[in-house]
Amino acid sequence: MLNIGCHLSLSDGYEAMGKTALSINANTFQFFTRNPRGGSAKAIDAKDVEILSNLLKQNNFAPLLAHAPYTLNLCSSAPETRLFAKEMMADDLKRLEKLPCNLYNFHPGSHTGQGAETGIEQIATALNEIMTPNQSTIILLETMAGKGSEVGRSFYELRAIIDRIKLNDKISVCLDTCHVSDAGYDIINDLDGVLTEFDNVIGLDKLKAIHLNDSLNERGAHKDRHAKIGEGKIGLDAIVRIINHPALKHLPFFLETPNEIDGYANEIKLLRDLAK
Ligand code: FE
Ligand code: FE
Ligand code: ZN
Repeated sequence: MLNIGCHLSLSDGYEAMGKTALSINANTFQFFTRNPRGGSAKAIDAKDVEILSNLLKQNNFAPLLAHAPYTLNLCSSAPETRLFAKEMMADDLKRLEKLPCNLYNFHPGSHTGQGAETGIEQIATALNEIMTPNQSTIILLETMAGKGSEVGRSFYELRAIIDRIKLNDKISVCLDTCHVSDAGYDIINDLDGVLTEFDNVIGLDKLKAIHLNDSLNERGAHKDRHAKIGEGKIGLDAIVRIINHPALKHLPFFLETPNEIDGYANEIKLLRDLAK
């Protein structure tokens, strides 16, 4: 069975996200751990979380995915920005121990002119300071489009970060289909080749989740503008090959397409119908 969901808002609480997911025939979902622009997080209501945990079990949900605020930057040239990101992520990891979710995705960062090598060092150093042997959460580096000074624009850059992480079994990758296409990988005509490259550079065992998005822009555009499924340059045929690929089909897929809830429901139905 296809494990698929979409990005949902935490604003009405944890149970509400579970119910919304059920209402659109999703069996997982992604949520921001706090306001996507950063800032303080709401206290966790244990009762609300317990109700969600039961709902997930009763309905056989696939793993959920938490997403860090996208403004966090572990490799900014500004030390206070790096420190803020580190504190925020350490707090998120603590909070996640109380939630039925053990995948935590984040954007590696933007080196803001320092160069990718410095960025990679700073990201890895910060992660090594934040991560603890007892955490049950796997941290996922998201593949990035390579907009501006984004780090993570190639599988090599992600591998370079992973290589520096001491608690190596707690770091993995989330592949965003819009981002990898924008980064230049040909998932439309050569999905097998791209996945072979991923396997050679990082290892497919390190791939834990897929952000399933179409892209408004051509391959290699480095823009990062998501499109609805089948309405962008990747196209429905390529997306269907992705959800049905033997190396990917067991993974949880998360839609981050520009949709309201009805649009997500339609995309989930479409993709479930096309899943083998
Ligand atoms: Fe993201
Ligand atoms: Fe994404
Ligand atoms: Zn994106």
